[in-house]
Amino acid sequence: MTNKIYQTVILGSGPAGFTAAIYACRAGLEPLLITGQQLGGQLVTTPEISNWPGRFDNPNGSDLMETLEKHASTLGTQFLYEYIVEVDLKGDIKTLTTASGQVIQTKTLIICTGANAKYLGIESETQYKGKGVSACATCDGFFFRQKKVAVVGGGSAAFIEALYLANICSKVYLVHRRDSFRAETALVKRLTELQKDGKVEFILNANVDEILGDGNKVTGMVVINQTGRHEIELDGVFVAIGHTANTQIFEGKLELEKGGIIKTGFGFKTQTSVPGVFAAGDCADGEYRQAITSAGTGCMATLDAEHYLQEKL
Ligand code: FAD
Ligand code: NAP
Repeated sequence: MTNKIYQTVILGSGPAGFTAAIYACRAGLEPLLITGQQLGGQLVTTPEISNWPGRFDNPNGSDLMETLEKHASTLGTQFLYEYIVEVDLKGDIKTLTTASGQVIQTKTLIICTGANAKYLGIESETQYKGKGVSACATCDGFFFRQKKVAVVGGGSAAFIEALYLANICSKVYLVHRRDSFRAETALVKRLTELQKDGKVEFILNANVDEILGDGNKVTGMVVINQTGRHEIELDGVFVAIGHTANTQIFEGKLELEKGGIIKTGFGFKTQTSVPGVFAAGDCADGEYRQAITSAGTGCMATLDAEHYLQEKL
């Protein structure tokens, strides 16, 4: 353990973490940003961002996140390419332990640990993960060129995945458990258009019962709807049914809501149930979960941390 006590440590390198770091640098807090295992966060897996203000060139997620990282770095953010496995949040100085055993001390902590892909939780899905079952079309879509795939889910992520795969695959089924969608209207419209030439097909009011395979790879899927069990021949299944907050290390240490979302609003808007500990982005938001709202709350968390430190002086 070094003797250094940081003014602020930021956990996570998504839009919330980088924005928190940019504001912390400008406030003279000399932040340490611990990137976690996914540098750039969730957005690095997406091929197109069309709603980041000012970027009407629709950059891919990696490009956008590289610009944020560069901005934070140029202003002087110190980076640690590690992830935190243990926290002690009691008292004025918070202690964090990294996976490699480094111990870090800080007066304020800004948690921006985001969220992780959810899976359906059926046995056959686990069996075929990496053998045709994926949660990331940008990462794995290439393996399914001119093949048949299904995307499960009815939110924006499912529609983005399906649109991306429709450019690569011979057929894309969108399988959703209801007949209305959470996805943005513009995305629904774009995918609906592609139904006309038969490239895309919606399978609605249908639950996935089983992923079929030959032991080595996916060969199909069984769905159940009002008319019974139906088998679809497939080469790949992309699960896009939302995310769970990455907050397991805070269980029993911070107040959490349903789905592991960190509860905020204790004194300062972004302060958690422990003074000096702030949270921003998807890990503290079960509702909006956008890149821009994450960046916005990242900014708020740093401003709150700054005010907290000033009150302590
Ligand atoms: P994340 O981006 O999830 O980043 C979390 C960070 O925390 C990661 O760097 C991770 O490595 C780190 N971390 C986790 N645990 C630890 C730990 N223990 N220690 C240290 N670090 C840790 N939103 C839009 O506005 N527009 C879009 O077009 C859009 N497209 C999307 C497409 C897909 C496929 C997905 C999945 C989401 C999309 N979203 C989009 C939502 C957007 O990605 C999220 O709202 C946003 O990334 C959340 O930012 P965040 O900084 O809170 O967390
Ligand atoms: P989401 O909006 O929560 O949608 C999840 C979808 O999966 C829902 O349709 C849900 O069905 C379905 N689902 C959940 N659990 C399921 C299960 N066990 N079995 C079958 N289906 C299940 O999640 P998301 O699509 O990942 O989006 C997350 C956030 O990122 C949202 O805020 C979204 O706006 C944002 N995002 C934005 C963009 C963009 O371009 N603006 C792109 C991607 C993501 P029900 O509808 O029946 O609940």
